[in-house]
Amino acid sequence: MPRIILICLTSLILTGCAITSHQTTPSSLGKPSSLAAMEAVVDLPGPVSVDTINSADWEVPIAGMLDMNDPQVKAARLNDHLEPIHIFMHVLHHPDRGYFLVDSGISRVFLDHPQQYGVNALISMEFHPERIRLRQDTASVTKRLPTPVQGIFLTHLHVDHISGLPDIPTNVPLYVGKNETGPRRFSYMFTLDMINKLLEQHASLKTWPFPDDNGGGFHGIVDIFGDGTVWALSVPGHTTGSTAYLVRTPNGPVLLTGDVSHTRWGWDHGVPPGDFTDNIDNNRKSLLALKALVERHPKIRVRLGHQY
Ligand SMILES: [Zn+2]
Ligand SMILES: [Zn+2]
Repeated sequence: MPRIILICLTSLILTGCAITSHQTTPSSLGKPSSLAAMEAVVDLPGPVSVDTINSADWEVPIAGMLDMNDPQVKAARLNDHLEPIHIFMHVLHHPDRGYFLVDSGISRVFLDHPQQYGVNALISMEFHPERIRLRQDTASVTKRLPTPVQGIFLTHLHVDHISGLPDIPTNVPLYVGKNETGPRRFSYMFTLDMINKLLEQHASLKTWPFPDDNGGGFHGIVDIFGDGTVWALSVPGHTTGSTAYLVRTPNGPVLLTGDVSHTRWGWDHGVPPGDFTDNIDNNRKSLLALKALVERHPKIRVRLGHQY
């Protein structure tokens, strides 16, 4: 192998790459808020509805979704196995602002033509698309809505959260957490092409204007519509830009955790995800911050990343 290619390959392996090379731009939607402002009103009934939809059933190794080195996992003698999970999308309706999605479910086009979206043999060995059982593809959900979706609030950029984008018009803005596309990792090299292909055609990702620190273990809180109805919470660890969403509905608050916690067992025991998470220690801190918020406000109903 020519020396220059060897040097390039070595430096790529050492430095890795970002989760995507898609451009980002600061979001004009959303304004920096605070933990105190959010907690002052969170328990009051609000006007936004949340409909959680199971887009697909799937099975993945539990070792990806639970830290198998955690003492509680060891004490419970949990062994690695294929765990049944779901790929969710959440439909938010704001009476004045219209329909928004949190995460995107999964598109039939993506499942039927995975190669078009960069799913090669190597990714299939990890991702196992053949284990996915479609329940409601993204297009069939959005086409039932009386008005078009106004934006997608992403919890992070893992493929199972953006796999519905082929069904979303490319003029619909996509929102992500801060620094989601900043860190470089060797593991991102394997999924870069797939994530880029799912995002291509869409405008630059809009990043929430999180202030640096809001206390309570959160790395920033944004009041999305400026009316105290929906908040984005910066909860890094699973990915650097991981974002949870808290919504005030007529029946009380709903927390959408994203993959801060994939599983019910992980949430109940305060155990963070394992192999699928970039930084387990930071993920644990974010998980405990969300659990503490729910303990302070027990009316909050929790909807996890991949299980009911
Ligand atoms: Zn994830
Ligand atoms: Zn996920």
